[in-house]
Amino acid sequence: MTARRTNTKAREAATALRNETERTCVVCRAQREASGMVRLAVRAGGLVLAARGKERGVSVCLARACLEGLAPKVVSKVTGLPVSFELCTLLADLHAAAEARVLEMVGLARRTGTLVAGVDEVHGGEGGTVILAEDLAARGERRLPDGRRFVSGARLGHAAGMGYLGALRIPSGPLSEQAATWLSLWYESRPSGLDRGDDAGRFGSVSQASS
Ligand SMILES: [Zn+2]
Repeated sequence: MTARRTNTKAREAATALRNETERTCVVCRAQREASGMVRLAVRAGGLVLAARGKERGVSVCLARACLEGLAPKVVSKVTGLPVSFELCTLLADLHAAAEARVLEMVGLARRTGTLVAGVDEVHGGEGGTVILAEDLAARGERRLPDGRRFVSGARLGHAAGMGYLGALRIPSGPLSEQAATWLSLWYESRPSGLDRGDDAGRFGSVSQASS
């Protein structure tokens, strides 16, 4: 009897421990590290980004297929709460939030003195998260194969409190990991179909590049 209770307790403890680091995707049911997932909470009948906390919610993989599989019915079933949302609005909200968070990380890295700014400087180091301006010239991108395109250089620079910023590195560490997670969410929640053309038109990089 006692042994049985101990076993149960041990099992419960193991489950709690696993839940701290691993979550189950509400769409594909895969179990992953929390860093590879996004946590959404049900608030005021809708779904919102929520790091952790007591609000009931769901976790979903940082993958387009899973994000696009989010449906009010699925979320309601898991949380037991009434919820309604438009998928395209939710994805647009997540995309905007992810963009703001990445820019926030860039600003934080700058303020804490760890940000590596500029193509030459980034080229000379390694590790961490490398972010390229969407309007960085192709030769710059070729020098930084581990970089990922993001917003315009003007906006990257603004976030870092400097002028145009074509490339940057956030060195390995918690900040870099957070930036990488938000960058993944930003990519995976991009509007499909009209992404490149829409962005290029918005920032005028096409006319600049061809002139
Ligand atoms: Zn999934």
